[in-house]
Amino acid sequence: MTEPTTLHDASCADDYDPNSMPVDKARALIARFLTPLTATERVPVRSALGRVLAEDVISPINVPAHDNSAMDGFAVRFADLSPDGDVTLAVAGSSFAGKPFTGKMQTGAAVRIMTGAVMPRDADTIVMQEHAQAKDGKVTIGKGHRLNQNLRRAGEDLAIGQIAVKRGVPLRPAEIGLIASIGVGEVTVYRKLRVAFFSTGDELVSIGSIPGEGQIFDSNRYTIHGMLTRLNCDVIDMGVVRDDPALIEAAFATAAANADVVITSGGVSVGEADFVKDMLNKLGEVLFWKIAMKPGRPLAYGKIGNAHFFGLPGNPVSVMVTFYQFVRDALLVLAGQNPVPPLPTFKVACTSTLKKAPGRTEFQRGILTQDGSGAWRVRVTGEQGSGILRSMCEANCFIILPTDQGNVAPGTMVEVQVMEGAV
Ligand code: AMP
Ligand code: MG
Repeated sequence: MTEPTTLHDASCADDYDPNSMPVDKARALIARFLTPLTATERVPVRSALGRVLAEDVISPINVPAHDNSAMDGFAVRFADLSPDGDVTLAVAGSSFAGKPFTGKMQTGAAVRIMTGAVMPRDADTIVMQEHAQAKDGKVTIGKGHRLNQNLRRAGEDLAIGQIAVKRGVPLRPAEIGLIASIGVGEVTVYRKLRVAFFSTGDELVSIGSIPGEGQIFDSNRYTIHGMLTRLNCDVIDMGVVRDDPALIEAAFATAAANADVVITSGGVSVGEADFVKDMLNKLGEVLFWKIAMKPGRPLAYGKIGNAHFFGLPGNPVSVMVTFYQFVRDALLVLAGQNPVPPLPTFKVACTSTLKKAPGRTEFQRGILTQDGSGAWRVRVTGEQGSGILRSMCEANCFIILPTDQGNVAPGTMVEVQVMEGAV
């Protein structure tokens, strides 16, 4: 495909087939239209957990701040040691973490030193305590040492002026700790992404109402709310909207005016899609796809005003799978994360028989466990219907079966993607 600049261009490319859209191609196409938000705010470092850093954090100090010892032992002058045998040095004092040796270390002297303690000014080498015999205020040290051994240099982790954490990095406990370690108390992060979402369907009732004949409780709004919350978004829950063109149009307009991203579930399958399609093309530019995947075939993506729009399928498992496989990465990009690496996958032996027809990518729900010898194995959760939300509860991974793959016999190596931490 040549570089499309609008969704319309993209949809006119020769190889563009909305009725059989490969997963990778849909992902790549969506990725072209994602412009990260730029608004920022200052927050205390502890509140920045899960937020995306909007500017490099530069270290105002050397880490470590001083030359210090990597071992418990004795700080010495290398020149005082002998390459041929034992020397005995007078112990002039001690340097503990937080309580450095402040005196002068004369020639022929040593200082008792603990891990992390500041190196005495006159010492250049640390002899670990296992290689020293201390007795009566003296220490005897043998041969075989190197100049500067067991010494950690000031600034060797991070020098003054060096970038401690880069812009675009989502802050995990490790980054929060690193930022704290250089004494920085506030950081600039991107504001949270605002995501409005609603469910469509005449059959849906919310918790608290009694479902009538043929009605069901709306669960998608709850899974979507949960996934968005995990991804640190500001959520705007717009409830259930009935399959009424005027109501749906009003909901889209309100959502797009108030959010960076609009997510809906239901109403994008064949038949239902038609009036939604016309309406969305009036409000913006939206593409409707049948993705060559299972579950999660119908998917819509586009822009409504300035908001990005994801129209997810109605079936509860399809909602979650399309969210994991398309929406997650897109939201991270929009939220300013850079880079957004693909979720890792790896191969393990599958102990189940898997039913699979070639022609589309399947995301079966799997359970990764260790067998008696400690090797990881995967099995399928059972029935794979796109309405069986229990399969997502039992699963801890997706078993990703590529397009051309047919049935899978037990013992075959399959690709898995761990769910934990992905959303
Ligand atoms: P649709 O794509 O609107 O035709 O919906 C496909 C299937 O998903 C139907 O069986 C719907 O009842 C079901 N469904 C749609 N929306 C929801 C929802 N919010 N919660 C639970 N099930 C839903
Ligand atoms: Mg529906």
